[in-house]
Amino acid sequence: EPFGGDPVAYARHHREAVLEEPVVLSVRNLTKSFKGLKAVDGISFDLHQGEVVSIIGPNGSGKSTTINLISGFLSPDGGIIDVDERSLAGASAADVSEQGVARTFQNGRVFGALTVDENIALGYHKKLVEQRPFKQLQRYPLLRWVNLLSETALALVHGPKTRDERAAVDDRVAIEVDRFRERLGTRRGDFAYTLSYANRRRTEIARAHISEPKLLLLDEPTAGMNQSETAEVLEQLQYLKAQGHTILLVEHKIELVTALSDRVIAMDGGRIIAQGEPDHVRQAPQVVEAYLGKRR
Ligand code: ADP
Ligand code: MG
Repeated sequence: EPFGGDPVAYARHHREAVLEEPVVLSVRNLTKSFKGLKAVDGISFDLHQGEVVSIIGPNGSGKSTTINLISGFLSPDGGIIDVDERSLAGASAADVSEQGVARTFQNGRVFGALTVDENIALGYHKKLVEQRPFKQLQRYPLLRWVNLLSETALALVHGPKTRDERAAVDDRVAIEVDRFRERLGTRRGDFAYTLSYANRRRTEIARAHISEPKLLLLDEPTAGMNQSETAEVLEQLQYLKAQGHTILLVEHKIELVTALSDRVIAMDGGRIIAQGEPDHVRQAPQVVEAYLGKRR
């Protein structure tokens, strides 16, 4: 076993080794305002191949906006987003996905009218299209039908078409679901709207991972989860890290951030206020101040 099973030594080795790897994501002077509010205010950072970087910060500090800009769900006002030296600032979500960037959402978006398998298969085909607009209106029967039709059309257009393709995707989905053991395994044919919140998040991570992305963006993957569910996600993410995945993670649970990250970026008011090793950032006076300030 490398490092005699010493997690601290392994973490240090990983942190230093990944810096020798090529840069996968390069962000420079990224800005985005909403009606004069600077949600992201000139941030710059790099991610090396295989590096796990977490963004922390109080609510409203610009973390999700950063993820939305990188994934093409928002268009920046200014700045550079390069993935593998290809410029993606302002590219559509579909184009960014095509380039090998996969993501999950803060509120656990799945296509409710599709099964677990169908949801994950969409990731395999790198077709993570924005959630249908009727999500909040599920309680109105007519809109529920519109939603069902639009999601079914989505699966038909982007899902597997030939029998061979379907068989290949089925195999990959089975492998993916296997990582979640019995939890998702028994639910593969169920409609996603029947899933528990934790299982939705698992479906999302599986959907993002199955595309074998060169960059994985995770927006609060453990939000709303209890302790044992959080521990399970941590295990999942440790596995992805050991596999060499490059991950940008937004996360509130500081223990998870510390256990997992090579580097931490702290944001406040759309700006980066500290970055570096987890323990260093966590104890930085400006970071402590930012959290305390917001609680008052
Ligand atoms: P975080 O994820 O760190 O909690 P966000 O990136 O979601 O923060 O939000 C940063 C700021 O931008 C907040 O003040 C939020 O209200 C605002 N904001 C985010 N998205 C939008 C939007 N689509 N329209 C208007 N304001 C937004
Ligand atoms: Mg957020």
